[in-house]
Amino acid sequence: MDQVKIGKFIASCRKEQGMTQAALAEKLGISDRAVSKWETGKSVPDSGIMLELCGYLGINVNELLSGEKIMTEAFDKRAEENLLAMRQEIEEKNRQLLNTEIWIGAPATVAGLVMCAFAAYADIPNAWRVALIVFAILMILAVAFVAVGIEQKAGYYECQICHDRHVPTYWQTNLAPHKGRTRYMKCPKCQKKSWQKKVLTKEV
Ligand SMILES: [Zn+2]
Repeated sequence: MDQVKIGKFIASCRKEQGMTQAALAEKLGISDRAVSKWETGKSVPDSGIMLELCGYLGINVNELLSGEKIMTEAFDKRAEENLLAMRQEIEEKNRQLLNTEIWIGAPATVAGLVMCAFAAYADIPNAWRVALIVFAILMILAVAFVAVGIEQKAGYYECQICHDRHVPTYWQTNLAPHKGRTRYMKCPKCQKKSWQKKVLTKEV
């Protein structure tokens, strides 16, 4: 056990908590002199008072005995890694969703156009022509509605004025003029209209 290291650690934690030696001593029901002796490495807190002391310093016994916040740093790093992994997972899910939009939208559009071409040029009764074209248009529209729904739910739109990232309503998305996935919409935060870009994450 490095008494000097522990002492310095106690002093720095105490200051972090905004306490004087006297204030800490009073909370523990001991003399200022005892606190001063710990902090200069002349003695270490005895086990009977350690738990209470750690509570006031905002650390655990393991950290007190190590004379540093090793455990906390490792914990923070782990938490940060988990958060990052979670964010990447969400981003990946949104990317896949947006790919689904293409996988549903493109074939349906092509199929619809082929049907229309067939209806226009094939040697079939006029009633069939009309029926085929109506069906093709309805199919393209239905798929477009589904595709917009996917696009609206996957990720966020970023306001180009205040850079707020948000999810608009389905109809706001569907009715907004668009160039690809960039849509001209009103921002819920700054209330201004701009060409909002599709982004995969909430955080900038
Ligand atoms: Zn805005």
